[in-house]
Amino acid sequence: MSDTTLNAFVSQRIEVSPYLIILRVAPDGWELPDFTPGQFAALALPGSAPRYRYTDPEETTPDPDKLIKRAYSIASSSVDREYVEFYITLVRSGELTPRLFALEVGDRVWLSKKFPGTFKLSEAPDDVNVVFAATGTGLAPYMSMLRTDFESNATRRVAVLHGASHSWDLGYRAELVTMERLCKNFTYLPVISRPEDEPVTWSGPAGHLQDLWSGDTLDRLWGGRPTPSDTHIFLCGNPLMIEGMIEVLSKEGFTEQTKKAAGTIHLERFWT
Ligand SMILES: Cc1cc2nc3c(=O)[nH]c(=O)nc-3n(C[C@H](O)[C@H](O)[C@H](O)COP(=O)(O)OP(=O)(O)OC[C@H]3O[C@@H](n4cnc5c(N)ncnc54)[C@H](O)[C@@H]3O)c2cc1C
Repeated sequence: MSDTTLNAFVSQRIEVSPYLIILRVAPDGWELPDFTPGQFAALALPGSAPRYRYTDPEETTPDPDKLIKRAYSIASSSVDREYVEFYITLVRSGELTPRLFALEVGDRVWLSKKFPGTFKLSEAPDDVNVVFAATGTGLAPYMSMLRTDFESNATRRVAVLHGASHSWDLGYRAELVTMERLCKNFTYLPVISRPEDEPVTWSGPAGHLQDLWSGDTLDRLWGGRPTPSDTHIFLCGNPLMIEGMIEVLSKEGFTEQTKKAAGTIHLERFWT
Protein backbone atom coordinates (compact mmCIF):
# COMPACT_ATOMS: atom_id res chain seq x y z
CA MET A 1 0.00 0.00 0.00
CA SER A 2 1.59 3.29 -1.04
CA ASP A 3 1.88 6.09 1.49
CA THR A 4 -0.70 8.23 -0.33
CA THR A 5 -3.41 5.55 -0.45
CA LEU A 6 -6.55 6.58 1.42
CA ASN A 7 -6.13 3.85 4.03
CA ALA A 8 -9.11 4.54 6.30
CA PHE A 9 -12.78 5.47 6.14
CA VAL A 10 -15.28 7.58 8.04
CA SER A 11 -17.32 5.37 10.36
CA GLN A 12 -19.31 8.15 12.02
CA ARG A 13 -19.89 11.88 11.46
CA ILE A 14 -21.67 13.94 14.11
CA GLU A 15 -22.43 17.57 13.40
CA VAL A 16 -22.14 19.53 16.65
CA SER A 17 -22.84 22.79 14.81
CA PRO A 18 -22.43 23.90 11.16
CA TYR A 19 -18.71 24.52 11.87
CA LEU A 20 -17.89 21.72 14.34
CA ILE A 21 -17.87 18.00 13.68
CA ILE A 22 -16.95 14.85 15.56
CA LEU A 23 -15.46 12.44 13.04
CA ARG A 24 -14.72 8.78 13.70
CA VAL A 25 -12.16 7.25 11.36
CA ALA A 26 -11.56 3.50 11.09
CA PRO A 27 -8.46 1.88 9.58
CA ASP A 28 -9.17 -0.25 6.52
CA GLY A 29 -7.42 -3.58 6.99
CA TRP A 30 -4.66 -2.51 9.41
CA GLU A 31 -4.34 -2.11 13.16
CA LEU A 32 -4.32 1.23 14.91
CA PRO A 33 -1.05 1.89 16.74
CA ASP A 34 -1.04 2.03 20.53
CA PHE A 35 -1.21 5.59 21.80
CA THR A 36 -1.36 7.56 25.01
CA PRO A 37 -4.34 9.90 25.53
CA GLY A 38 -3.32 13.42 24.54
CA GLN A 39 -1.45 12.33 21.45
CA PHE A 40 -2.47 13.23 17.91
CA ALA A 41 -2.79 11.66 14.48
CA ALA A 42 -2.59 13.17 11.01
CA LEU A 43 -5.53 13.15 8.62
CA ALA A 44 -5.18 13.92 4.93
CA LEU A 45 -7.12 14.18 1.68
CA PRO A 46 -5.87 14.89 -1.83
CA GLY A 47 -6.28 18.33 -3.44
CA SER A 48 -8.88 16.76 -5.75
CA ALA A 49 -11.25 16.05 -2.81
CA PRO A 50 -14.38 18.25 -2.92
CA ARG A 51 -14.80 21.15 -0.52
CA TYR A 52 -17.78 21.61 1.81
CA ARG A 53 -20.26 24.04 0.28
CA TYR A 54 -20.29 26.68 3.02
CA THR A 55 -16.61 27.59 2.70
CA ASP A 56 -14.49 30.17 0.91
CA PRO A 57 -13.33 29.43 -2.64
CA GLU A 58 -9.61 28.68 -2.94
CA GLU A 59 -7.39 31.34 -4.47
CA THR A 60 -5.00 28.76 -5.85
CA THR A 61 -5.98 25.21 -6.76
CA PRO A 62 -3.86 22.65 -4.88
CA ASP A 63 -2.17 19.75 -6.65
CA PRO A 64 -5.06 17.27 -7.15
CA ASP A 65 -2.82 14.26 -6.43
CA LYS A 66 -0.93 15.57 -3.42
CA LEU A 67 -2.20 14.83 0.09
CA ILE A 68 -3.02 17.81 2.31
CA LYS A 69 -2.06 16.64 5.83
CA ARG A 70 -2.86 18.18 9.19
CA ALA A 71 -2.52 17.11 12.84
CA TYR A 72 -5.62 16.32 14.96
CA SER A 73 -5.70 15.41 18.64
CA ILE A 74 -7.41 12.11 19.33
CA ALA A 75 -10.62 12.42 21.37
CA SER A 76 -11.42 8.73 21.75
CA SER A 77 -10.12 6.40 24.42
CA SER A 78 -6.89 4.55 23.69
CA VAL A 79 -8.84 1.43 24.66
CA ASP A 80 -11.03 1.78 21.54
CA ARG A 81 -9.25 -0.21 18.87
CA GLU A 82 -11.80 0.00 16.03
CA TYR A 83 -11.64 3.74 15.34
CA VAL A 84 -10.13 7.06 16.37
CA GLU A 85 -12.36 10.03 17.04
CA PHE A 86 -11.57 13.65 16.21
CA TYR A 87 -13.25 16.94 17.11
CA ILE A 88 -12.69 19.37 14.25
CA THR A 89 -13.38 23.08 13.63
CA LEU A 90 -14.13 24.30 10.13
CA VAL A 91 -11.61 26.89 8.97
CA ARG A 92 -13.60 28.31 6.05
CA SER A 93 -10.51 29.54 4.20
CA GLY A 94 -8.47 26.47 5.13
CA GLU A 95 -7.05 23.83 2.83
CA LEU A 96 -8.00 20.62 4.64
CA THR A 97 -10.96 21.26 6.95
CA PRO A 98 -13.37 22.26 4.11
CA ARG A 99 -12.52 18.89 2.54
CA LEU A 100 -12.91 16.97 5.82
CA PHE A 101 -16.31 18.59 6.37
CA ALA A 102 -17.48 17.30 2.96
CA LEU A 103 -16.85 13.70 4.05
CA GLU A 104 -19.82 11.39 4.62
CA VAL A 105 -19.95 8.05 6.43
CA GLY A 106 -18.11 5.45 4.32
CA ASP A 107 -15.90 8.02 2.50
CA ARG A 108 -12.19 7.32 2.40
CA VAL A 109 -9.49 9.40 4.07
CA TRP A 110 -5.79 9.06 4.85
CA LEU A 111 -4.87 8.38 8.51
CA SER A 112 -1.29 8.35 9.78
CA LYS A 113 -0.01 5.10 11.22
CA LYS A 114 1.92 6.89 13.97
CA PHE A 115 0.27 8.93 16.74
CA PRO A 116 2.96 11.16 18.28
CA GLY A 117 2.85 13.92 20.89
CA THR A 118 4.04 14.74 24.38
CA PHE A 119 0.84 16.33 25.75
CA LYS A 120 0.01 13.64 28.29
CA LEU A 121 -1.58 13.40 31.72
CA SER A 122 1.57 11.65 32.98
CA GLU A 123 3.32 15.05 32.74
CA ALA A 124 1.58 15.84 36.05
CA PRO A 125 2.38 13.87 39.24
CA ASP A 126 -0.36 11.40 40.25
CA ASP A 127 -1.09 13.16 43.56
CA VAL A 128 -1.95 16.64 42.24
CA ASN A 129 -5.29 18.00 41.08
CA VAL A 130 -5.64 18.71 37.40
CA VAL A 131 -7.35 21.51 35.48
CA PHE A 132 -7.98 20.88 31.79
CA ALA A 133 -8.57 24.24 30.11
CA ALA A 134 -9.57 24.43 26.44
CA THR A 135 -11.21 26.61 23.86
CA GLY A 136 -13.23 24.97 21.10
CA THR A 137 -11.78 21.75 19.77
CA GLY A 138 -8.90 22.02 22.24
CA LEU A 139 -11.15 19.80 24.35
CA ALA A 140 -10.28 16.77 22.18
CA PRO A 141 -7.16 15.49 24.01
CA TYR A 142 -8.90 15.85 27.38
CA MET A 143 -11.82 13.72 26.17
CA SER A 144 -9.31 10.97 25.40
CA MET A 145 -7.64 11.36 28.81
CA LEU A 146 -10.97 11.36 30.66
CA ARG A 147 -12.41 8.46 28.68
CA THR A 148 -9.26 6.39 29.28
CA ASP A 149 -7.74 7.35 32.61
CA PHE A 150 -10.29 9.11 34.79
CA GLU A 151 -10.85 7.41 38.15
CA SER A 152 -14.12 8.44 39.76
CA ASN A 153 -13.02 7.18 43.19
CA ALA A 154 -9.56 8.81 43.23
CA THR A 155 -8.69 11.58 45.67
CA ARG A 156 -7.39 13.70 42.77
CA ARG A 157 -9.82 16.39 41.62
CA VAL A 158 -10.20 17.02 37.90
CA ALA A 159 -11.84 20.07 36.34
CA VAL A 160 -12.63 20.81 32.70
CA LEU A 161 -12.86 24.52 31.86
CA HIS A 162 -14.25 24.79 28.33
CA GLY A 163 -14.59 28.10 26.50
CA ALA A 164 -16.68 28.62 23.38
CA SER A 165 -18.55 31.46 21.70
CA HIS A 166 -22.04 29.98 22.15
CA SER A 167 -23.68 27.21 24.16
CA TRP A 168 -24.28 25.25 20.94
CA ASP A 169 -20.51 25.18 20.33
CA LEU A 170 -19.91 23.25 23.57
CA GLY A 171 -19.21 19.84 22.07
CA TYR A 172 -19.30 16.81 24.42
CA ARG A 173 -21.38 18.84 26.88
CA ALA A 174 -23.86 16.04 27.60
CA GLU A 175 -21.06 13.54 28.30
CA LEU A 176 -19.25 15.97 30.60
CA VAL A 177 -22.43 16.96 32.46
CA THR A 178 -23.18 13.27 33.04
CA MET A 179 -19.63 12.68 34.30
CA GLU A 180 -20.00 15.58 36.69
CA ARG A 181 -23.28 14.17 38.05
CA LEU A 182 -21.75 10.73 38.56
CA CYS A 183 -18.28 11.63 39.84
CA LYS A 184 -17.77 13.71 42.97
CA ASN A 185 -14.17 14.50 42.07
CA PHE A 186 -15.02 15.88 38.59
CA THR A 187 -16.01 19.47 37.79
CA TYR A 188 -17.22 20.75 34.42
CA LEU A 189 -17.28 24.50 33.89
CA PRO A 190 -18.31 25.73 30.45
CA VAL A 191 -17.97 29.46 29.71
CA ILE A 192 -19.35 31.29 26.68
CA SER A 193 -18.13 34.60 25.31
CA ARG A 194 -21.32 35.72 23.52
CA PRO A 195 -24.24 35.15 25.92
CA GLU A 196 -26.22 37.93 24.21
CA ASP A 197 -26.78 35.60 21.19
CA GLU A 198 -28.43 32.86 23.27
CA PRO A 199 -32.14 32.29 22.56
CA VAL A 200 -32.53 30.96 26.11
CA THR A 201 -30.89 33.01 28.86
CA TRP A 202 -27.45 31.59 29.73
CA SER A 203 -27.16 31.23 33.49
CA GLY A 204 -23.56 29.96 33.56
CA PRO A 205 -20.29 31.89 33.52
CA ALA A 206 -19.78 34.31 30.59
CA GLY A 207 -16.58 35.80 29.18
CA HIS A 208 -13.28 34.15 28.36
CA LEU A 209 -11.46 31.29 30.04
CA GLN A 210 -9.11 33.76 31.71
CA ASP A 211 -12.15 35.46 33.33
CA LEU A 212 -13.45 32.12 34.56
CA TRP A 213 -10.08 31.23 36.05
CA SER A 214 -9.64 34.67 37.63
CA GLY A 215 -13.09 34.46 39.24
CA ASP A 216 -13.87 32.24 42.21
CA THR A 217 -16.24 29.67 40.64
CA LEU A 218 -13.72 26.82 40.77
CA ASP A 219 -12.40 27.90 44.18
CA ARG A 220 -15.91 27.67 45.65
CA LEU A 221 -16.50 24.23 44.14
CA TRP A 222 -13.10 22.92 45.23
CA GLY A 223 -13.16 24.59 48.63
CA GLY A 224 -10.11 26.79 48.02
CA ARG A 225 -7.97 28.43 45.38
CA PRO A 226 -5.88 25.92 43.35
CA THR A 227 -2.17 26.62 43.80
CA PRO A 228 1.00 25.41 42.03
CA SER A 229 1.72 23.12 44.97
CA ASP A 230 -1.53 21.16 44.61
CA THR A 231 -2.63 21.64 40.98
CA HIS A 232 -1.29 21.27 37.44
CA ILE A 233 -2.95 23.11 34.55
CA PHE A 234 -3.26 21.83 30.99
CA LEU A 235 -3.95 24.35 28.21
CA CYS A 236 -5.02 23.44 24.68
CA GLY A 237 -6.45 25.23 21.67
CA ASN A 238 -6.41 28.84 20.55
CA PRO A 239 -2.96 30.46 21.00
CA LEU A 240 -4.53 33.70 22.27
CA MET A 241 -6.24 31.83 25.10
CA ILE A 242 -2.99 30.01 25.88
CA GLU A 243 -0.98 33.24 26.06
CA GLY A 244 -3.72 34.92 28.13
CA MET A 245 -3.90 32.03 30.58
CA ILE A 246 -0.11 31.83 30.94
CA GLU A 247 -0.05 35.54 31.82
CA VAL A 248 -2.73 35.12 34.50
CA LEU A 249 -1.32 31.84 35.85
CA SER A 250 2.27 33.06 36.04
CA LYS A 251 1.15 35.83 38.43
CA GLU A 252 -0.09 33.05 40.73
CA GLY A 253 3.24 31.20 40.62
CA PHE A 254 2.41 28.56 37.99
CA THR A 255 5.30 27.90 35.60
CA GLU A 256 5.42 26.43 32.13
CA GLN A 257 6.80 22.94 31.71
CA THR A 258 9.61 22.92 29.13
CA LYS A 259 11.98 20.27 27.81
CA LYS A 260 14.57 21.54 30.27
CA ALA A 261 12.50 22.47 33.33
CA ALA A 262 9.62 20.86 35.20
CA GLY A 263 6.56 23.08 35.50
CA THR A 264 2.91 23.16 36.48
CA ILE A 265 1.51 24.36 33.11
CA HIS A 266 1.40 21.94 30.16
CA LEU A 267 0.44 23.13 26.69
CA GLU A 268 -0.63 22.08 23.24
CA ARG A 269 -0.88 24.85 20.63
CA PHE A 270 -3.09 24.01 17.64
CA TRP A 271 -1.61 26.86 15.64
CA THR A 272 0.70 29.85 16.24
C1 LIG B 1 -0.79 18.92 17.67
C2 LIG B 1 -1.99 19.54 16.97
C3 LIG B 1 -3.25 19.03 17.24
C4 LIG B 1 -4.37 19.61 16.61
N1 LIG B 1 -5.60 19.13 16.92
C5 LIG B 1 -6.69 19.71 16.37
C6 LIG B 1 -8.00 19.26 16.74
O1 LIG B 1 -8.17 18.32 17.56
N2 LIG B 1 -9.08 19.87 16.16
C7 LIG B 1 -8.92 20.90 15.27
O2 LIG B 1 -9.94 21.42 14.78
N3 LIG B 1 -7.70 21.35 14.91
C8 LIG B 1 -6.59 20.77 15.42
N4 LIG B 1 -5.35 21.21 15.05
C9 LIG B 1 -5.24 22.22 13.95
C10 LIG B 1 -5.17 21.47 12.59
O3 LIG B 1 -3.93 20.78 12.49
C11 LIG B 1 -5.26 22.43 11.39
O4 LIG B 1 -4.32 23.47 11.56
C12 LIG B 1 -6.65 23.05 11.24
O5 LIG B 1 -7.63 22.03 11.11
C13 LIG B 1 -6.71 23.96 10.00
O6 LIG B 1 -6.40 23.21 8.85
P1 LIG B 1 -6.77 23.76 7.41
O7 LIG B 1 -5.95 23.04 6.41
O8 LIG B 1 -8.24 23.77 7.18
O9 LIG B 1 -6.32 25.29 7.49
P2 LIG B 1 -4.97 25.90 6.87
O10 LIG B 1 -5.11 26.11 5.42
O11 LIG B 1 -3.81 25.09 7.32
O12 LIG B 1 -5.00 27.30 7.62
C14 LIG B 1 -4.37 27.38 8.90
C15 LIG B 1 -4.84 28.62 9.63
O13 LIG B 1 -6.17 28.40 10.10
C16 LIG B 1 -6.28 28.90 11.42
N5 LIG B 1 -6.66 27.75 12.29
C17 LIG B 1 -6.05 26.55 12.45
N6 LIG B 1 -6.72 25.75 13.32
C18 LIG B 1 -7.79 26.47 13.69
C19 LIG B 1 -8.85 26.20 14.56
N7 LIG B 1 -8.95 25.01 15.24
N8 LIG B 1 -9.76 27.16 14.74
C20 LIG B 1 -9.67 28.34 14.08
N9 LIG B 1 -8.67 28.67 13.24
C21 LIG B 1 -7.73 27.74 13.04
C22 LIG B 1 -4.97 29.49 11.80
O14 LIG B 1 -5.02 30.86 11.52
C23 LIG B 1 -4.01 28.82 10.89
O15 LIG B 1 -2.87 29.59 10.62
C24 LIG B 1 -4.21 20.67 15.67
C25 LIG B 1 -2.94 21.16 15.39
C26 LIG B 1 -1.84 20.60 16.04
C27 LIG B 1 -0.48 21.16 15.74
